[in-house]
Amino acid sequence: PGPVVAIDGPSGSGKSTVARRVAAELGLRYLDTGAMYRAVTWWLLEHDVDLSDTERVAALAAQAPVHVGLDPEHPTVRVGDVDVAAAIRESRISAAVSAVATNLGVRDTLVAQQQGTAREGGVVIEGRDITTVVAPDALVRVLLTASEEARLARRALDVHGSADDDAVHATRDQIVRRDADDSTVAKFHQAADGVDVVDSSHLSLDETVEVVLALVRR
Ligand code: C5P
Repeated sequence: PGPVVAIDGPSGSGKSTVARRVAAELGLRYLDTGAMYRAVTWWLLEHDVDLSDTERVAALAAQAPVHVGLDPEHPTVRVGDVDVAAAIRESRISAAVSAVATNLGVRDTLVAQQQGTAREGGVVIEGRDITTVVAPDALVRVLLTASEEARLARRALDVHGSADDDAVHATRDQIVRRDADDSTVAKFHQAADGVDVVDSSHLSLDETVEVVLALVRR
């Protein structure tokens, strides 16, 4: 079935794009675990669930009909019959997702699903806790980092289509807050034992992909 490649990193590190490219290059499947947390969040908001009601959120997350496709060339995210690939990237979801992702019951459910995919092998899995919790035995484990400056510029480009001062400013508040909210999930200033750190601040996307591919092939 092929190897498991685990890639963690904070928002704006470029991990989704890098993970997809690495998977496509190696003929592996690709699992975007952030999309799972985002899709569950979309579903909870759709049902007007109070996100501070931890027990209800955890119980509903276990029933959410989330389906994240594993083809790196054609990523899909569905909840039931609804295509939510675009909706889960909206800022209302980005603003709410940490509240859901820090719910330990939600994490139990989603981590178990992700570990099921990891056990089958042949997959690049990307997220916040993949190298440490979901797939600590992966053949290759990478922590993809980038300076705050580089991360902000990339996110601003993603979200606002520009990396000028206004766009970076608008992005900063959101990113800094989400990093703080997520800090219980993962600490990015230090990699766990056996995890390779790849700093992409001064690398192009192609160069970053090459560095990760070299780690897999070594
Ligand atoms: O990577 P992405 O920005 O799509 O992740 C969205 C959110 O999902 C993160 O801010 C974090 O709260 C949560 N997440 C997580 N564990 C993962 C992946 C994502 O807690 N493995």
